[in-house]
Amino acid sequence: DQRLEMIDLKSIIRTVPDFPKPGIQYRDITTLLADPAALKAAVEQLAAPYRDTGVTAVAGIDARGFIFGTAVAIELGVGFIPVRKAGKLPFDTLEQDYALEYGTDTLQIHADAASEDDTVLLVDDLIATGGTAEAAISLLKRTGCNLVGAAFLVDLPDLGGADRVRSQDVPVKTLVAFE
Ligand code: 5GP
Repeated sequence: DQRLEMIDLKSIIRTVPDFPKPGIQYRDITTLLADPAALKAAVEQLAAPYRDTGVTAVAGIDARGFIFGTAVAIELGVGFIPVRKAGKLPFDTLEQDYALEYGTDTLQIHADAASEDDTVLLVDDLIATGGTAEAAISLLKRTGCNLVGAAFLVDLPDLGGADRVRSQDVPVKTLVAFE
């Protein structure tokens, strides 16, 4: 849909200064979620490159990656895998710690969420340092699946996350960049 390609997604994402702490320019995607045309355009543009790639599942990262990831999964006609914060999944899990600015956090997936027979696309709302995506990628790789790529609505290129993920041989696509 050509009209959806002309929507300026960047202008619809709100920047909130000093959240969650002084000096951080938080990119708030709730303004895009609230805009029906922008939401549709974002989901279509995230899904478009993967239409003929044999994707069998989309994985999304807790919590905003669930919003876009599920929509992309429906768009591609496949199922959805939640990559969750620790302690939320009820069945057998794989887990991966990752570094935060202060301390660490843990992501989990169900051990049977994907297998060697799957081709998986990872989706999240935003990539900054890439630590979160890297943890999700390591979990997905441990299932034996083929990871076809990672797609993000927003890239913060100065923080180097997209390049970090690409250096692990996972192709990255992003729709909007804030320098
Ligand atoms: P990273 O691990 O790449 O440094 O941080 C990315 C993760 O933190 C993503 O899951 C993303 O949702 C969240 N995140 C970090 N900064 C922002 C921000 O400015 N806006 C939004 N919406 N999410 C952020």
